[in-house]
Amino acid sequence: MINLSELTIAKARKHLDDGDFTAVELAESYLENIAKKNEEIFGYIEVYSDVLEQAKRADEMIKARKAVSLTGIPLAVKDNMLVLGKEATSSSKILKGHIGTYDATVIAKLKEAGAVLLGRTNMDEFAMGSSTETSAYGKTKNPRDMTRVPGGSSGGSAAVVASDMALGSLGSDTGGSIRQPAAFCGIVGMKPTYGAVSRFGLMAMASSLDQIGPFTKTVEDAEIIFDAIRGCDPMDSTTIPGDLYPKKEEKTKLKIGIPRDFLSMKGLDASMLENFEATITALKNKGYEIVDVSLPYMKYSLATYYILMPAEVSSNLARFDGIRFGLSEIGKDVSDSYKKTRHIGFGEEVRRRILLGTYVLSAGYADAYYNKAIQARKLIRKDFDTAFKDVDVIVTPTTPSPAWKLGAKMDDPLQMYLADIFTVPANIAELPAISVPSGTVKEGENELPAGFHIIAPYMREDILFRVAKDATK
Ligand code: GLN
Repeated sequence: MINLSELTIAKARKHLDDGDFTAVELAESYLENIAKKNEEIFGYIEVYSDVLEQAKRADEMIKARKAVSLTGIPLAVKDNMLVLGKEATSSSKILKGHIGTYDATVIAKLKEAGAVLLGRTNMDEFAMGSSTETSAYGKTKNPRDMTRVPGGSSGGSAAVVASDMALGSLGSDTGGSIRQPAAFCGIVGMKPTYGAVSRFGLMAMASSLDQIGPFTKTVEDAEIIFDAIRGCDPMDSTTIPGDLYPKKEEKTKLKIGIPRDFLSMKGLDASMLENFEATITALKNKGYEIVDVSLPYMKYSLATYYILMPAEVSSNLARFDGIRFGLSEIGKDVSDSYKKTRHIGFGEEVRRRILLGTYVLSAGYADAYYNKAIQARKLIRKDFDTAFKDVDVIVTPTTPSPAWKLGAKMDDPLQMYLADIFTVPANIAELPAISVPSGTVKEGENELPAGFHIIAPYMREDILFRVAKDATK
């Protein structure tokens, strides 16, 4: 029996190549664990029926000495990425039964590498949420404390890695949906630079903010998945040509900036701050220089996000009209059919955001809201540009609090939105960012995972991974 809790992608690679176990045996171990745990945790909506065939193909690649980093590695995929011939629904009623007619670019890359796709994971409907409670299929539980949320929107992808139901997984991050659930479940979650990874075949939430990225147990593993899925894609004109990426940073001493003004704003739990300071001290002892940085416009990030994001949501989700995809409710005329389909098909949070977005884009209001938010976005970006002239990375806690109880914030959307306060700025400024586990904080009787959040300059994933490794060693 393979000890899944000790396994990482890097270790599994070595075992597979050394012949200690086969890809089929590894996949079987994961399927067994899924059979034991998934009913309660509900990280997977669907486990694919062809897992063992995929693993057999991986074994052939390994035997033929054609293995690459992810050959035979069992991974899970968020339900908003298209896989040819498989259902993909963004956990929405409106897309139930929708079958992918092509592979998303990230999926094509994983398949080519010989990765084994175990199944699709639960998420907040259309990636809108911070708790994975708005899914049309039901709630996912946090494997570290089953009475709590796993975070969101990629809560299923985080939960399956944290409970050894996959070695790694893909999520999407528009405002924190990879980093926040990673922090809540005690694992690593990374959002690449905007344009580093193709969005082709990812169901769009807010196109100028969305990025696909990995969940893993270690930083090294996150880097392995990132390297496998990144790259310029003719199918996504916003992807960055590889040769624009700078050479690896070889500076011996790196400087870390802390936006103290921003951290001192209310809402951050004292225990989270204490946990954060402990990681800072550890990094200082490793030779990092730590300074304060000022990002005066960072405090407008959340307000900016909650205008730009719903604006893009309202336009992206216009395509779900009951005619082209999924659910179709016939009304007395075409407009009535649209209304009925969208009313029945979309959940409350998605409808709220479509309404908000339509409002901030409407004639008469666009200048006051949408155009203002575009200006604020530029200022937030400029803040980061200025700060990065002095420091190599900027760090914060990933979230203001640890995972909350299931249901605790469902009736208070504003409270839910505040959970994104530290993660949203990186999406607004298109920067790479990562959450790494930083031990636990005490909440009553419980020890709950906390995350340490690192933001690096545009296209500087090399620096991001380097600091992240030091923060977890
Ligand atoms: N929690 C944020 C929201 O609800 C982030 C979502 C995401 O990154 N997909 O918008």
